[in-house]
Amino acid sequence: MKRIAIDMDEVMADFIAKYLLHYNRDFNDNVTHERLHGMHLRQLNPELESHLRKCLDDPSFFGDLPVMPNSQEVVRELSERYEIFITTAAMEVPASFAAKYNWLKEHFPFLNEMNFVFCGDKSIIDADYLIDDNSRHFKRFKGQGLLYTASHNVHETGFVRVNNWLEVREYFAGI
Ligand SMILES: [Mg+2]
Repeated sequence: MKRIAIDMDEVMADFIAKYLLHYNRDFNDNVTHERLHGMHLRQLNPELESHLRKCLDDPSFFGDLPVMPNSQEVVRELSERYEIFITTAAMEVPASFAAKYNWLKEHFPFLNEMNFVFCGDKSIIDADYLIDDNSRHFKRFKGQGLLYTASHNVHETGFVRVNNWLEVREYFAGI
């Protein structure tokens, strides 16, 4: 079986949706996902870095992120034809380990937890495909990268792009 490695935040889990709830509450703002189009979060506000860090360091923050639409059924389908690995750069947010693990067990119970890879540098990942919203992870990846569309990467070109999970399904149906 070929292997597909899948990132969590902004691919399986809607990190931005939850972060914006906290951001808007704490900065008394009304930022929508649409307004972030083409932007990195840090462009929103010079004080964002410390606020973001506080959220990331909260061990429960990642426990209730919304699941990306259609990801559960498409990952389940793919798991019948491919070996699925979940590869998250969790070393950037060490407080999140337990919440990320529990989130995967809750929403993707059909996945084998032995295939959860909490890592830093994803170039160590030996898979045929990597679905990720951060193109930097493709630089030294030996397989095929699939750039999952997120507001911060909409202007990036030169990558195979998937806009949502239905497009992921379509991509693999064509192989
Ligand atoms: Mg990500």
